[in-house]
Amino acid sequence: MKIIRTIKALRSILIAQRKKAGSIGFVPTMGYFHQGHTALMKASAKENHVTVVSLFVNPIQFGPKEDLSRYPRDLKRDTRLARESGVDILFIPSVKEMYPEPLLTFVEVGKIADILCGASRPGHFRGVATVVAKLLNIVQPDIMYLGQKDAQQVEVIKRMVQDLNIPAQIKVCRTEREQDGLAMSSRNSYLSPSERAVAPRLYQALCQARRMIADGERNTSKIISQIKKLISDGTNVSIEYVSCVGLDRFVPVRRIKGKVLVAVAVRIGTTRLIDNIVVKA
Ligand code: AMP
Repeated sequence: MKIIRTIKALRSILIAQRKKAGSIGFVPTMGYFHQGHTALMKASAKENHVTVVSLFVNPIQFGPKEDLSRYPRDLKRDTRLARESGVDILFIPSVKEMYPEPLLTFVEVGKIADILCGASRPGHFRGVATVVAKLLNIVQPDIMYLGQKDAQQVEVIKRMVQDLNIPAQIKVCRTEREQDGLAMSSRNSYLSPSERAVAPRLYQALCQARRMIADGERNTSKIISQIKKLISDGTNVSIEYVSCVGLDRFVPVRRIKGKVLVAVAVRIGTTRLIDNIVVKA
């Protein structure tokens, strides 16, 4: 596995690679790898001749009061996990390499980026879409791998790729979970033992919602209030949103019909966690 730190060096390796033919798979990440990340890497390694992983904690997707400066990092462990997962190139650019000058150009995806996480994190998806557009231009992969855990991010990036005619296919991999159901996340490392103990409630509440829907419940306000009750029951978890969004137009729906994303975001102490499931009726 090669570790590459400059855009120029990465481009020259990939130009040579493209001449040899074969597909390039790409996994964008912010590092501090867990099984969610390595599952994407393994999927790419299986389906492509070359797998490129970017590790870049992107400052422009963090708000001024968010966790940019304390975002967890462990380069040594990440390098080992990437190598063990079949990655060929680990691209680790500096902030200066990605943003040599303050940007004047941004990618805005519009209203699907303004709801859910976009409403509580203004500018977040603009930062995500902009860095992913830059990375797609740098790597020019055949296939990019994303995690369902960040369902709105998937929608925003899919729409950007479609609207800007970016010639990359997108594959979405399922959410990897701890044994107790908690969705794996680099931010789980912030949780104290007592916070970690309540964190599985997010997925438990989503599973309860799935059961309600299987039993015939279609009214999303009833489903949402049940999820809220289960998550906040007797604890100081603060709920940022619980929402049911139709996957056809990505807008909140009153009734479950077709494919619906049931998504939650909470704060446990100072840690922000998100999770989601897709239901169908
Ligand atoms: P991040 O490093 O958090 O920006 O995530 C990099 C990629 O890994 C994104 O496409 C995420 O959606 C994906 N990812 C993060 N957590 C998980 C998980 N638990 N299961 C599957 N994919 C994940």
